[in-house]
Amino acid sequence: MAVNNIKSLGVLTSGGDAPGMNAAVRAIVRTALSRGVDIYAIYEGYQGMVDGRDYIRKMTWESVGGILHQGGTIIGTARCPAFRTREGRRQAAYNLLMNGIDGLIVIGGDGSLTGANIFRQEWPELTAELVASGQISQELADAHPQMRIVGLVGSIDNDMFGTDMTIGADTALHRITKAIDAITSTAASHQRSFVIEVMGRNCGYLALMSAVATGAGWLLIPESPPTIDNWEDRMCEVLHAARQAGRRHSLVIVAEGACDRHGNPISSHYVRQVLEDRLGEDTRVTILGHVQRGGAPSAFDRYLSTLLGYAAVDHILSASPESEPQIIGIRENRVTRSPLVTCVEQTQRIAELIKNQDYERAMEMRGSSFKETFRHFRTLVRSLPRPASAEQTPLRIAILHAGGPAPGMNTAVRAAVRLGIDRGHTMLGVRNGFLGFIEGDMVELQWMDVGGWASRGGAELGTNRKVPSGGEFYAIARQIEKHNIQGILMIGGWDGYEACNQLYSRRTEYPTFNIPIICLPATINNNLPGSELSIGSDTALNNILEAVDKIKQSAVASRRCFVVEVMGRYCGYLALMSGLATGAERVYLHEEGVSLKDLQADLENLIEGFRNNKRLGLMIRNERANPFYTTAFMCSLFEEEGGNLFDVRQAILGHQQQGGDPTPFDRILATRLAARCIEFLTEEASKPTPASAFIGLQAGRIQITSMDQFTRMTDPKFHRPLNEWWLELRHIARVMAHPSALPTSSPTA
Ligand code: ADP
Repeated sequence: MAVNNIKSLGVLTSGGDAPGMNAAVRAIVRTALSRGVDIYAIYEGYQGMVDGRDYIRKMTWESVGGILHQGGTIIGTARCPAFRTREGRRQAAYNLLMNGIDGLIVIGGDGSLTGANIFRQEWPELTAELVASGQISQELADAHPQMRIVGLVGSIDNDMFGTDMTIGADTALHRITKAIDAITSTAASHQRSFVIEVMGRNCGYLALMSAVATGAGWLLIPESPPTIDNWEDRMCEVLHAARQAGRRHSLVIVAEGACDRHGNPISSHYVRQVLEDRLGEDTRVTILGHVQRGGAPSAFDRYLSTLLGYAAVDHILSASPESEPQIIGIRENRVTRSPLVTCVEQTQRIAELIKNQDYERAMEMRGSSFKETFRHFRTLVRSLPRPASAEQTPLRIAILHAGGPAPGMNTAVRAAVRLGIDRGHTMLGVRNGFLGFIEGDMVELQWMDVGGWASRGGAELGTNRKVPSGGEFYAIARQIEKHNIQGILMIGGWDGYEACNQLYSRRTEYPTFNIPIICLPATINNNLPGSELSIGSDTALNNILEAVDKIKQSAVASRRCFVVEVMGRYCGYLALMSGLATGAERVYLHEEGVSLKDLQADLENLIEGFRNNKRLGLMIRNERANPFYTTAFMCSLFEEEGGNLFDVRQAILGHQQQGGDPTPFDRILATRLAARCIEFLTEEASKPTPASAFIGLQAGRIQITSMDQFTRMTDPKFHRPLNEWWLELRHIARVMAHPSALPTSSPTA
């Protein structure tokens, strides 16, 4: 492949640190090496570039080993006033030239990326000045006519235009959500009120998403200040009504840049004062501060950064020298490039709009899912249902689960119940899945019955794998009649989809099934059609990571290989993504199969690695990768053949993967999908032949697919979609895992 004449690349992290930066550095280093390109880490951001010397170090495969799970950035970051000056940048250019670097990958916020672009634009002048002052030769300047740059956005605030997520934002949300969960449990015990201040000077992303994820009672963000002047009265009214309805605590989330509609800042201490004075509530303020930035990166930040790092090298090596500099980000669940200058300008434009109190346009620029989530939040915080309006037709909607438990199920039920009641519907909770449906085990759920469910793991309504058959359809038809059910929301996995498809296809036999039915994907396996992600899978992935991080730590002193078995049934999503996020050297998937030849090759790789002083091996195996080459078999094979060189341990992670409280991502997705399901059921119920469907995220957007497509889109034997989008990431996992992927001779040599 043409490598654009770049022989050496540099990577630096700059501005505020963000968890996931290490994963990006690791991916950049390993991808560059796999392309036969030298790669230098520039320590301490632009400061290291200005200072040179051993701040610029050549990286090897091993230099980025064991950093994937570490927070912060191992290559350091700094604010560098010198780089803002021409002299500083000239000195930086000199240092890069001395190392032969002619491409830079900058991981930072809009400030760092602006600096990189200025540097790139000035490059020909800087080199000319260095020639003129005799510091470098004309030949050296001629050999490096351009400095190519590409940017990755590292920022916990998620404040950059051009990418749906920035590196570090998901982890920050994890930290915030955990802290708020802990605070709400103590707040509820004492019936206290809490005001929590989270980061975000110009961007309410962390505040909004954490408010949705934790079921907060009120929210103040910079982009959408309260629309009325006496917002304090309204806030107190809503919080008071919630208390009257039985809520044991009040929780207000304030973004650090929150302001009123005249642009006056609203501080968390002011909010506390208001609550104390007007409601007489014992109120505490917690300013979360730097905990939001710290700690191990989440699963998403690890694999996102890995994919972005890989793509950044790919791009810088293949882009034409004249092309505009780009940032690599993620949009609609795919890695994308966007012009750096435009992204920085638009990011700064949003800040300006907020400053000029043009909130409508600021919200517009945040995008549709931000706006939609904000809208749902406002409905959800209302502590009591609105009186139904005349044009709403109230429905009786049954909600049930089916399939294995998935963290986020309760969150989805809570959102559906509250948004349903908000539209005047009666929401019936069916206990124990289709078993309960057959027996008519259902109860009307009131607004406060689902209080506290936003953050609760497990499935309060109960779930099981029952798929109805034979005379049970008649029993279900009777229950639909008896309870006058006019719509069904199934929140669950494969068995639920299959059951709903059965009801749908028996409409002529049982006319009562002629009601709208919608399936909301909730399974840790992520094996459902019509959705790139199902709720529960992000939590499971993070559970796996936590376990594997500990397993890896336990093996520091010995030469040991772990074979870790993860769930997923016949779907390899959890195995592959956890492999990417933990740095496993091999992932076994049912989709690919496992042959004896593969195992032999893997064994040889292990032996070679341990002979070269490797201390730890990590293989991740999907539970059903192969019925004969089981985890125990693989362990015995590796153990026996490894002889004295290394020992082997198996770790079957089991049900801990399904447990725990849902991650913020699962909670937010559950809420968004549930909201759309209620809209769907409301719309369809009025039609003569209401549709049945399944909902999900496709290309990052919520889409609804007709139930007619279910059999066409799925593999009936292995219970997974025919098209699994994540399979294309296998190549990246291989590049990250194997130094053997390195070219023996450099293609540029
Ligand atoms: P972030 O990248 O997180 O927005 P900063 O705005 O602090 O953080 O920028 C980090 C560093 O990037 C600064 O300390 C400086 O070295 C460099 N930088 C930022 N803006 C510019 C600029 N306009 N010109 C040159 N360098 C800049």
